[in-house]
Amino acid sequence: MPVQSPGDRGGPARPTSLAVLTSGGDAAGMNAAVRAVARTGAHIGLPVYAVIEGLQGLVDGGDAIRLLTSDDVGGILHQGGTVLGTARCEAFRTRDGRRRAARNLLEHGIDALVVIGGDGSLTGAEIFREEWPGLVEELVGAGDVDPAVAAAHPRLTIVGLVGSIDNDMYGTDMTIGADTALHRITEAIDAIHSTASSHQRSFVIEVMGRNCGYLALMSAVAAGANWVLIPESPPDTDDWAETMCETLAEGRQIGRRSNLVIVAEGARDRHGRPITASQVKEILEEGLGEDTRITSLGHVQRGGAPSAFDRYLSTLLGHAAVEQLAYSPGGESKLIGIRENHIVSSPLTECVEKTREVASVIADRDYDTAMDMRGGSFRDSFRMIRTMVRAHPHAPVPGRRRLRLVVLHGGGPAPGMNTAVRVAVRVGIDLGHTVLAARRGFRGLKNGDFEEMDWMSVSSWVSRGGAELGTSRFIPRGDDVEAVASQLEAHQIDGVLMIGGWSGYQAAYALHSRRHEYPALTTPIVCLPASINNDLPRSEISIGADTALNSIVTDVDKIKQSAVASGRCFVVEVMGRDCGYLALMSGLATGAERVYLPEEGVSLSDLQTDVTDLRERFAGGKRLGLFIRSEHVDDIYTTSFIHSLFQREGGGLFEVRQAILGHVQQGGDPSPFDRTQATRLASECVNYLVEQAVAETPASAFIGLQSRSVEFTPLDELPSLIEPTAHRPLLQEWMALRPVAQIMARS
Ligand code: ADP
Repeated sequence: MPVQSPGDRGGPARPTSLAVLTSGGDAAGMNAAVRAVARTGAHIGLPVYAVIEGLQGLVDGGDAIRLLTSDDVGGILHQGGTVLGTARCEAFRTRDGRRRAARNLLEHGIDALVVIGGDGSLTGAEIFREEWPGLVEELVGAGDVDPAVAAAHPRLTIVGLVGSIDNDMYGTDMTIGADTALHRITEAIDAIHSTASSHQRSFVIEVMGRNCGYLALMSAVAAGANWVLIPESPPDTDDWAETMCETLAEGRQIGRRSNLVIVAEGARDRHGRPITASQVKEILEEGLGEDTRITSLGHVQRGGAPSAFDRYLSTLLGHAAVEQLAYSPGGESKLIGIRENHIVSSPLTECVEKTREVASVIADRDYDTAMDMRGGSFRDSFRMIRTMVRAHPHAPVPGRRRLRLVVLHGGGPAPGMNTAVRVAVRVGIDLGHTVLAARRGFRGLKNGDFEEMDWMSVSSWVSRGGAELGTSRFIPRGDDVEAVASQLEAHQIDGVLMIGGWSGYQAAYALHSRRHEYPALTTPIVCLPASINNDLPRSEISIGADTALNSIVTDVDKIKQSAVASGRCFVVEVMGRDCGYLALMSGLATGAERVYLPEEGVSLSDLQTDVTDLRERFAGGKRLGLFIRSEHVDDIYTTSFIHSLFQREGGGLFEVRQAILGHVQQGGDPSPFDRTQATRLASECVNYLVEQAVAETPASAFIGLQSRSVEFTPLDELPSLIEPTAHRPLLQEWMALRPVAQIMARS
């Protein structure tokens, strides 16, 4: 982007330098944001200062405000917490404290701030901005600041990023640290699940969230909890304790080996009275007569290495914050967040006010409004959990046709496939239909290898990696199509749900396109994107990609740590087939200097430039290099070719090691995001199938997550949405992030 100050266009002048600080509770991903601020500042030529210990550092000044170079922020991306430190600061609540802060900033010519914190810190920052002209005038009057300096900095520009594990802020769909917290909670619940199952115990798990049930609700969906209590939607009735015990007792009768109840810190009943974990424990002990334990996850939820999402989200937010300060300085404070998968800027004051409004709506016991304010997917998730926790499906509605639906996979395995099958089976049965599963993908469909699923056949599949039903890349061609048609007819199938990747989509299309020859193929087919490659059209993210990304990031962290000796450069190969999503996003999340993408290819001159550049940087004191190569970038310039070339041409300045990560990327238990998305998409798909199965002219489609809402695209459109010669969609919005990756690496 060309550097043009709005000052050139007659608007407020660009800030002369900016400072970044982290404040309030720490959150994983804050370091990634600080790094991005420093590197974007360096890229556009804006000096960046770090403020140590949050707002306290502003008030203290001196050593607490120091220049932050691009090099200073090397090696912090993977660290949890905040390297800048954070502290509560009473002095900043006073005008005198803020006047000292203004003087300390002016000492360095700083008139722009990136504040990374919760609503308290952001409120304090906004007050500071409003008071700035008055504070500066007072400082000039007292002789503490030179009038010329004051005149050069007439205003303070503030941009806020929300660091809060609770995900409780209006203006952003996700706050920095929330995804990591969900990882910690889900890992803990998975672990508790196995011990609870072994002993047939009940566990009450308390998670953070005073006014926001996000962590409790999403972890309950992700971990398959049996009951959840959140502040926004207390139990409907006063006899909720009996209802809960009855449901859990029924669950025991049908063979559930564990009972997990998740309680948000701020859980309450309809009258606003708190419901605590110990109360729930007593209720369960009395009602079920079972040994019940409480696990309060506490600060574990804050800690640990940031998830892949928190690393790249924070990087994008930090980058956007500096751009906002540089290109649109002055005016009211802004909050940069992510909404509908896009980085957006909103008025900070409004966001803080709306956030507080939710808290007061809850305090006023207006729970419907509170749920509305949380948005549609929050409500959907809550509804979904109420279906999933049932011990038995609802009784079929008399007179409603009982459909026969089949679920199967296609393509390579992707973490989250089992989660999606579990939901599809339960939602289908709960709606009164029969759900069958075909083994080993479309091969099973061709051979009539069906099995009827029941409510408990998918028990504990929520967290299980791999694909229990089996999958294959088989695409029915020629006579296979007829064989599939006759199986569909013989088994009287009313709808097919394919949960899978590229070849699954191709197989569905192959059947659909021959429906004029075989009437049985007019049966509606719906495809749910599940592929670590994220190479499917009309879906911003497919199930499994987030898990794969986290797996890559964890492995690369280890690879980097293995470089005990300095002067080492790693070339890491990641999966993705013809799609560079995993390479680019893991590059952003691990701080790679260069990513090689199949969308761009690579030439010998590119490699020469890279190795020359690398030599210069190592000669200048660089100690560690990281290159990420997507597996299908080029047939000739393979990972081992690049490894050899770098080694040969490195001039003895560094050693090169290669790591091909391979199939570990397809394995592992699904990440919380993959579980919650799989849950949401599978439920939508079953509803769609049921609707289409009874329609006069049933349609077939694929579902996708588009800007946080789910949309169906007719299957007929598949060929027009994909590259003719490569396995990837024509439109890949994430490619727009490419320049940010370059800035992070080069500056
Ligand atoms: P968070 O930012 O996570 O919400 P806090 O509410 O503890 O955390 O706020 C962090 C710091 O922000 C406080 O210690 C204080 O210095 C500052 N702060 C909070 N509210 C205000 C306010 N109304 N006026 C001035 N400063 C404030």
